[in-house]
Amino acid sequence: MHNKFERRCIACRQVKLKQEMLKISRINNEYLIDESYKLNGRSAYICKNNECISKAIEKKLLNRAFKTNLDEIYNKLRGYIE
Ligand SMILES: [Zn+2]
Repeated sequence: MHNKFERRCIACRQVKLKQEMLKISRINNEYLIDESYKLNGRSAYICKNNECISKAIEKKLLNRAFKTNLDEIYNKLRGYIE
């Protein structure tokens, strides 16, 4: 079930194809939304839908995933809510 094309959403915990998700990666202590899905390093996934993105922002779920405060990336994520 958990092959290399599937990832678990940090908001709804469902496993989906990674192309259906936003990938947030940490590269050299910088956090960014990896549109290419090609960056290595620690990463977390969120479904590309308003519900999961909003939940991740409201509950600051990325802080838990990366064990640090990520206010900047939440501002970027807001841009993905339609
Ligand atoms: Zn989700």
